Amino acid sequence: MGTLRLSQITKAYGTIEVLHGISLDVADGEFVALVGPSGCGKSTLLRMIAGLDSVTSGEIHLNGTLVNEVAPKDRDVAMVFQSYALYPHMTVRENMGFALRMAGVPRLKSREQIDKVAEILGLELLLDRKPKELSGGQMQRVAMGRAIVRNPALFLFDEPLSNLDAKLRGRVRGEIKALHKRLKTTTIYVTHDQVEAMTLADRLVVMRDGIVEQIGTPLDLYDRPATPFVAGFIGAPAMNLLTGTLTNGSLNLPCGLTLATPLTANGDAIVGIRPEHLTRSADGWPLTVEIIETMGNESHISGTIGGTPAIITVKSRDFPTPGDTIHVTPDPTQLHLFQNGHRIPT
Ligand code: ADP
Ligand code: MG
Repeated sequence: MGTLRLSQITKAYGTIEVLHGISLDVADGEFVALVGPSGCGKSTLLRMIAGLDSVTSGEIHLNGTLVNEVAPKDRDVAMVFQSYALYPHMTVRENMGFALRMAGVPRLKSREQIDKVAEILGLELLLDRKPKELSGGQMQRVAMGRAIVRNPALFLFDEPLSNLDAKLRGRVRGEIKALHKRLKTTTIYVTHDQVEAMTLADRLVVMRDGIVEQIGTPLDLYDRPATPFVAGFIGAPAMNLLTGTLTNGSLNLPCGLTLATPLTANGDAIVGIRPEHLTRSADGWPLTVEIIETMGNESHISGTIGGTPAIITVKSRDFPTPGDTIHVTPDPTQLHLFQNGHRIPT
């Protein structure tokens, strides 16, 4: 059982506040990913949940109990760090058993638990090795094993895959997903990797500069980003965001074209269109081509529309040449409109 409630959490280092009132409710068994640019406060928040950093103001409840002043070892929380943080002089078995020993778990029981987790993670043959005799992927697995043996109420992961190469990252990502399905331990997972966040999490928390921009399921955030920031952050390649001026519902775009909108208030507005929702057409918005990147299954044509960076995804291999101007038309049912920093329902 593991529920987590963060209420108006702030964190200041000296006079500088880096988290400005974070609130979040996590249900038992849920997998929540914290995403956001480097420096937005993800690790700080995770460390506060673990008890490794103090809370400046606000409350953290674990399973309904206020834990602000509870020592890390008494929080029933296990954290996996990006650096793995294994004890170099201990074997894999000793690393995995350390927290159990500290908690006074009897030797035989501890041995049993370690063997069981080693089997789940495929570590059986490595139990007598020291960390320096392990590959990056194996160390990562030991770090996870060390968290799992404790059977905590809450797993905290801080970018656990970022030191692995791309292929291994994909595999371990699948393993983490399978593991969560099996153990159903409530998990908070920090990552800056879109794919990890989208594929692993039940819900994403998008952070920016110490605040929460939006919380929702991966597809909620993809389909209905609440702010231009979330619109640009979720999805790769990123959503196109064109700023224009509204007059009586017509959005005048920098490319000289206008777009009819249901908006009534005049002023600046942003229209967002995902790269896959722009198609090449005989006329439409002029896109000056700069770069063509082919992935094999699809290609990305990027350049500018009226001076604003823009990108489209195409399946066709009938490529333009850099310097060409092509024309693109948005799918009118797939427009995202933002005014004063917020999504306008359409
Ligand atoms: P993220 O994990 O999202 O990249 P961090 O939580 O590491 O971000 O950092 C958030 C902000 O807090 C950054 O501006 C960082 O410089 C600052 N910060 C983190 N730890 C400390 C510290 N010990 N002392 C002072 N500032 C810190
Ligand atoms: Mg971090």
